[in-house]
Amino acid sequence: MISCPCALVISIPLSFFAGIGGASKEGILVKGSNYLEALSQTETLVMDKTGTLTQGVFEVTAVHHNSMDENKLIELTALAESASSHPISKSLRKAYGKNLDRNRVSNVRELSGKGVVASVDGNEVAAGNEKLMAELGVACIACRSSGTVVHVAVDGAYCGHIVIADRLKPNAVKAVREAKAAGVRKVVMLTGDRSAVARAVAAELGIDEVRSELMPGDKVAAVEAILAEAKGKVAFVGDGINDAPVLSRADIGIAMGAMGSDAAIEAADVVLMDDDPLKIAKGIKISRKCLRIVKENIWFAIGIKVLCLALGAFGLANMWMAIFADVGVMILAILNAIRALFVKKL
Ligand code: ADP
Ligand code: MG
Repeated sequence: MISCPCALVISIPLSFFAGIGGASKEGILVKGSNYLEALSQTETLVMDKTGTLTQGVFEVTAVHHNSMDENKLIELTALAESASSHPISKSLRKAYGKNLDRNRVSNVRELSGKGVVASVDGNEVAAGNEKLMAELGVACIACRSSGTVVHVAVDGAYCGHIVIADRLKPNAVKAVREAKAAGVRKVVMLTGDRSAVARAVAAELGIDEVRSELMPGDKVAAVEAILAEAKGKVAFVGDGINDAPVLSRADIGIAMGAMGSDAAIEAADVVLMDDDPLKIAKGIKISRKCLRIVKENIWFAIGIKVLCLALGAFGLANMWMAIFADVGVMILAILNAIRALFVKKL
């Protein structure tokens, strides 16, 4: 009777269910108990910038070196970007404001990490970063203002650039601080954006390491390098726009659920329902608490059982003690497991 393992068999899965339940009540969907365990061992947190730490809602701050009217330039760019779901595209369409006639656009090609090329009213419009201009062989004028820059070329001729600026998510600073408080040793930011923008954001957030101007493939390589040197688990947080492959490569992929792409939600192990980066620290805290409860239950159940077995072997344990070692320990372990459901406010 004493050696019956039901306390272990019932309370351990139940602790994980309670942990997953508690996390989902907070808007953090964990796709399995193995991911909850991995999350609790997170030592390096790698984050994407656009859409993860920043809102991904860019506002046009300036138009420079334009060879055509400013509004015309924005109109052509918005049309070329009309088929993309990238935050930059959405913001440029919003900046244009008026309805876009998609019939004017054809032959859209999106080059991830670079920009888009489309035919608008029969002219080839290219909008993107310096890498895109280099690929098309268009000489572009570098921009000195801080911000993300969208260079525009029509039929291979440079037409100026649009400077757009993103804002940090209101909780981004706190998110990095709380993640470190929850036990994360190193926070790294990976971005496809210009290094000037990346450095400014990293300094404001207190991020330890930045890598910028990365192509989607470079992000995978960067995460592989981090995986090779990290001792604990590596978590990657992204919105899935150009980073879905990284989400599946990292030990734990965390996706932004509301703004993120469907590919991200599919590839990730953990999904944050409301895109709040503060939920990363909360998720880590929930997972740590859950794992602590699991360990408590294992030691408690085995400890009591070994003790009662020893007493039984010397004839010192009676039937009531055996019943306590079986049912009593099980009930206590279950009550302890239920604690994983309750989550402290951050
Ligand atoms: P992040 O890593 O910050 O999420 P991305 O990898 O999505 O950035 O994009 C990297 C860079 O590529 C952007 O900063 C932008 O310069 C350029 N880019 C990507 N997609 C587009 C687009 N649809 N229109 C214009 N520029 C784009
Ligand atoms: Mg992104």
